[in-house]
Amino acid sequence: MNRRIYFVLLGVPGAGKGTQAKLLEKRLGLPQVSTGDIFRHNLNSTTASGLLIKSYMDRGELVPDEVTIRMVEDRLRLPDAAGGAILDGFPRNLVQAEALDRMTAPYGGVSLVPLIHLSDEEAMQRITGRRVCRSCGAVYHVEYNPSRIDGVCDVDGGELYQRDDDKPETVRNRLYVYYKQTSQLIGYYYAKGMLVEIDGRQSIEQVQSELIALLAEKEVAV
Ligand code: AMP
Repeated sequence: MNRRIYFVLLGVPGAGKGTQAKLLEKRLGLPQVSTGDIFRHNLNSTTASGLLIKSYMDRGELVPDEVTIRMVEDRLRLPDAAGGAILDGFPRNLVQAEALDRMTAPYGGVSLVPLIHLSDEEAMQRITGRRVCRSCGAVYHVEYNPSRIDGVCDVDGGELYQRDDDKPETVRNRLYVYYKQTSQLIGYYYAKGMLVEIDGRQSIEQVQSELIALLAEKEVAV
């Protein structure tokens, strides 16, 4: 069997999944597959399907499973994912988790599921101060992780912006959806012995080194 490595990062919106996935991507040479980023980049607001997807995102609701699952299937078939992927924001419910199991079964299945713990209050604070690079998706925080020049990405000089769904009303619904649907995946992966837990209140570097240590300990990478 051609074994591939698939990590699923779990945690409330704002826990730092995207930030950690980007660091891991560089270190492990596996692509970050963020369904939220893919939706944002490919959104075409002039088509009916683009507008429909945007309406779910603007409300903080999940985009329908069939759309999301098909998109991930296509993404995982691209050549850069031949060794596996770091999944960030997918799966978000049990139907998606089962679909991911089917997609990855020929390659040994999901390898490890790090869960980054963070309280709602902290998540809210982080998300409302979050800024994202329009071109490369690098993530900053106005207070905790600012760019060197205000409004400009350190990585590629792109423009930093606040996501439409990072406003408090939408964040509250995203947290609700997380607890109602995504949190079921904690039990799902725990039962499979794949779950590892990390305190997300630590610094970006601390979370990253803990993640790397866990991957090494479980002998799934590095
Ligand atoms: P994120 O960037 O991961 O916070 O995702 C932003 C928004 O994209 C979510 O609030 C959903 O509307 C949509 N989205 C991202 N990933 C998924 C997914 N796996 N299933 C359904 N909708 C998703």
